[in-house]
Amino acid sequence: MAVTRLAYILAASHSGSTLLSMLLGSHPQIATIGEMNLSPQAMGDLDRYRCSCGQFIRRCAFWQKVPEAMHRRGVAFDLACAGTDYRSVRSRYAQRLIKPMHRSTALERIRDVGLSLSPAWRAALPEVHRRNATLASTVAELAGAQLVVDSSKVGLRLKYLLRNPELDVKVIRLVRDGRAVALTYMDPAGFADASDPSKRAGGTGGDRGDERLSMRQAAYEWRRCMEEAEHVLQGLDRSRWIEVRYEDYCSDPDATLDRLHRFLDVEPGGQPREFRSVEQHIVGNGMRLDTTSEIRLDERWREILTEPDLQAFDAGAGRLNRRYGYE
Ligand SMILES: [Zn+2]
Repeated sequence: MAVTRLAYILAASHSGSTLLSMLLGSHPQIATIGEMNLSPQAMGDLDRYRCSCGQFIRRCAFWQKVPEAMHRRGVAFDLACAGTDYRSVRSRYAQRLIKPMHRSTALERIRDVGLSLSPAWRAALPEVHRRNATLASTVAELAGAQLVVDSSKVGLRLKYLLRNPELDVKVIRLVRDGRAVALTYMDPAGFADASDPSKRAGGTGGDRGDERLSMRQAAYEWRRCMEEAEHVLQGLDRSRWIEVRYEDYCSDPDATLDRLHRFLDVEPGGQPREFRSVEQHIVGNGMRLDTTSEIRLDERWREILTEPDLQAFDAGAGRLNRRYGYE
């Protein structure tokens, strides 16, 4: 059985994972489509959804080649039902069990037992494994790369990718100051999307007002994502994961990429100066639609968050943030 190498970016949403995936993907030995967890709900109207190359995704030459290449490997593929999301099982019983985030080892065992009792889950799991592995090997082949980056971020998906017999998975755990992340949850369109407002919300424009959280909710959301990541990593051999800080790779991208290239066993120093000069076809966060290759540390939270915001953050997640060295 052919095994594809995959690097998974594990992070809370809006921690800089799309930028990191683009930086990694500009290396000649690495390919990425961003989030391989292709969820039709997250992408919205596919006829208006833009690929990072600027083209509508349905008309993008790369994305037109994917179904053909997948088909050669015996897997039917369409973006509208990519089938790479482990939560897309068609059983209400299984869906209830697969919904909660990754928790402690003991609770995950209970989930495993519960899911093993579902015939729908037992039938779906090998199929979703196969679709993920086939998509990874297809993307690698089309880009002439040896390794694929999946920036889907969520911990529970990683649990199943680690069990995928056709994937050899290493993990990049990305950490960012929780106060900066919480601000993006309070206003995703303003602080975590394309710079050009008309390119936001998947390329269709929009203020994403329905996604906004209060600071209390935002702090809680960030904390839960961080705890989920910690739970997944507990069961993983230390040689298989590395931790990277958003703030570090923004202030010294070369040093961070050098570290990551060594960890991923690719040629160090193969990085182009302008990461956007390399052809990439990425789905996920709106920053993929920006045009600059400049890597700028975004610390707008320092000016924008009010004293009550900071207090609300501190009450919900301050201790955890300090544990990661953010004072
Ligand atoms: Zn494209």
